[in-house]
Amino acid sequence: MKTIKDLNIDNKKVIIRCDFNVPIKDGKIVDDTRIVGALPTIQYCLDHNAKIILLSHLGRVKTAEDLKKNDLSPVANRLSELLKQDILFSDETRGEELEEVIKSMNPKDIILIQNTRYEDLDGKKESGNDAELGKYWASLGDVFVNDAFGTIHRAHASNVGIASNLESAVGFLIEKEINALSILDNPEQPFIVVLGGAKVADKIGVIENLVTKANKILLGGGMAYTFLKAKGYEIGKSILDEESIDFCKGILEKYPEKIVLPEDFAVNKEFVNEGEYKIQKADKIGSDEMGLDIGPETLHKYESIIKDAAIVVWNGPLGVYEFEKYKKNTDELLKYICDNNIKTILGGGDIVAAATEAGYKDKLFHVSTGGGATLEYLEGKKLPGLESIK
Ligand code: AMP
Repeated sequence: MKTIKDLNIDNKKVIIRCDFNVPIKDGKIVDDTRIVGALPTIQYCLDHNAKIILLSHLGRVKTAEDLKKNDLSPVANRLSELLKQDILFSDETRGEELEEVIKSMNPKDIILIQNTRYEDLDGKKESGNDAELGKYWASLGDVFVNDAFGTIHRAHASNVGIASNLESAVGFLIEKEINALSILDNPEQPFIVVLGGAKVADKIGVIENLVTKANKILLGGGMAYTFLKAKGYEIGKSILDEESIDFCKGILEKYPEKIVLPEDFAVNKEFVNEGEYKIQKADKIGSDEMGLDIGPETLHKYESIIKDAAIVVWNGPLGVYEFEKYKKNTDELLKYICDNNIKTILGGGDIVAAATEAGYKDKLFHVSTGGGATLEYLEGKKLPGLESIK
């Protein structure tokens, strides 16, 4: 993997594809984590006297009303505060004015270009990786650095399109992500997978890819009930992913030793946080009950399996973590992992939100920031944004 350190960027015009897809409310940035995350790559370019051209998408642009909502200019203001320097902002994603400003830039100057998805309004040029657009953006700089891990599983004009036309490398954020995730290509044993989340259908690719490498896959969350159903258990009103029952049967038959199902659950009668829950054994879920979290026996069993793991990867919460009562065992397992220093990669999405909320994010070996991107890596798929650089 070619990284920014392999490029000669001194005094060059460096285009950086960042992930500035931050939550913005009434023109104010609610969480600037992604902007802060981009700083090491930007700072490295500043240290090398580069002229820096930043590109990013923000939200989705389908109609003219989406333009104002997804205006990237607040990011320029925040960047300016963080870097303590003026940041140029181009309201246009292309055009003579932009080209003139870039021509007049001095070393260490930074320009942020308007939301790349403004180009989607006219024929999905960004998301459809329009060849002419990728070539145009590439013409604005001398080298290209992709540092937007969140879109690395997509072939867009602002990543694959530019990389196809210019000498390219990955930035520090993508380098860190890939270095950590690639441990899972040939994981040390015992390798344990923890898998939760709502639906089996969303995780079929992950299960198929990881089941051959893992010693055990510990299941939880909503998807566990479809596996129980496949085994012939009564699951009451628990979430069921009917179309995946056959897949579950097949996997259970093929890997009976590897797939570990919860043995008890926290159940309630409604999908609410209110009221008292009951702990119910897997074969005792009543027809009017639904499972909302794993139970204490399952937690202890999972802890004892994880105890000796060389590496753990975990995707998806073990219960409805949005409800105070049913995030308990997701939090407990995270705590156990942190207290016992178990080398763990959190594989993107909701489990990262759960770990962040509970204060465990910085105590883990690696927390992968990509939702779809991380999932596709765990599915063993090739990532176009990375392939275009290789
Ligand atoms: P995912 O995006 O696939 O990781 O799924 C995360 C979602 O799964 C969260 O919104 C959880 O509330 C949901 N979830 C976890 N456990 C359950 C459950 N027992 N019943 C329904 N939804 C669940």
